[in-house]
Amino acid sequence: MPPIPTSPPPGRPDVSQHEEEPGGGMYRLIEELYPICRSISGEGLRETLRRIQREVPISLFEVPSGTRAFDWTVPPEWNIRDAYVAHRGERVIDFRASNLHVVGYSGPIRCTMTLDELRPHLHSLPEHPDWVPYRTSYWAEGWGFCLSQRQLEALPDGEFEVCIDATLNPGSLSYGELLVPGRSTDEVLISCHVCHPSLANDNLSGLAVAVELARRLRARTRALSYRFLFVPGTIGALAWLARNEAGLDRIKHGLVLSCLGDRGPLTYKRSRRGNAAIDRAAAHLLRQAGLHSRVRDFVPYGYDERQYCSPGFNLPVGCLTRTPNGEFPEYHTSADNLDLVTPAALADSCAALQRILEILEEDRCYVRTEPRGEPQLGRRGLYRGVAGLRQPAMEELALLWVLNLADNRHSLLEVAERAGLSFAQVAEAAKRLSDEGLIREA
Ligand code: ZN
Repeated sequence: MPPIPTSPPPGRPDVSQHEEEPGGGMYRLIEELYPICRSISGEGLRETLRRIQREVPISLFEVPSGTRAFDWTVPPEWNIRDAYVAHRGERVIDFRASNLHVVGYSGPIRCTMTLDELRPHLHSLPEHPDWVPYRTSYWAEGWGFCLSQRQLEALPDGEFEVCIDATLNPGSLSYGELLVPGRSTDEVLISCHVCHPSLANDNLSGLAVAVELARRLRARTRALSYRFLFVPGTIGALAWLARNEAGLDRIKHGLVLSCLGDRGPLTYKRSRRGNAAIDRAAAHLLRQAGLHSRVRDFVPYGYDERQYCSPGFNLPVGCLTRTPNGEFPEYHTSADNLDLVTPAALADSCAALQRILEILEEDRCYVRTEPRGEPQLGRRGLYRGVAGLRQPAMEELALLWVLNLADNRHSLLEVAERAGLSFAQVAEAAKRLSDEGLIREA
């Protein structure tokens, strides 16, 4: 059965009042979504997608439980209303205090047990005694609670009342999709996972940056088309791939977004191809952006790039983060909270992302209209260099490089890489030379 898009509600009339501080709008969206108990299916996920619809007109799709997606099957839908462990009528672990207290996808249970019987179902982090871990059991039946080591050590002896008021029933998995069309049908895939409960950096930061990017792209003309996916991790990406296999050859570039709100430096993980245009554009931008930014090779571990870059697809999809998954101590714990992410980091991430995409939009090859010898730049007011200086000014160097490599074999990004100049400098030089009629698009 094909997915049924539901028409989005009308967008908010004007959301430009967002921006009183850089990143402020993204941060407030994270604050709003943070308390919702999300998972790979269920009402929390739908509520999150509907909230995104108020920012940008994503379509919502529902994939029924039991639907096959390659080697996987969409699981029953999980919904939870309440959960607790109580001792003498007093809640000692309480889902209402934090949704992280329940292992995601826990089945329903209501019983009384001793601490020894309860203990195998309790998860804590001895190395961070005040933090509550985030755990799930999507693919194995079971139930459990997560709590801080201090809470665990303070549990009294005696009988405990255990309640998880949850359902695991046939339903559906939800995801959101938005196509922002450009002049070309060539697409840039922007994908983020939307399945984590109260975790700010891993999940909500990527979501917020993707929403902001979509808002900005919709407000300008675009050479490329952009397809945004807001999917539950792994199974959501697989379900989307299974339903959209016929159109995958339109995807010329792609990025998975996550962990974009912490104070760490930007990190780009290359696609499996390793040398795709997105890999080169991101590496170039990050090199230019700062000393501490990092570019890493593909590894089959991380987020949904694992699916997009599986051998049967091998899409040119990299992954942009600040501190990558698993490399910050707060990862998958209650300490990945609203204090870990900052508006400034979100703003910086979004700006870098936009500049990477600008490279993809503007990169092209040029040819000289008269390739024999150098054109006389001084006569055209393009070369102010004083004869005898050891080095020409940067702008003049950019002109010379573009003129020399305008042979239909070197794109502007290749010129920038070879010349050690920024893409922006090279693109500006190409514009000036093109305006003068010295080069033209190949
Ligand atoms: Zn995660």
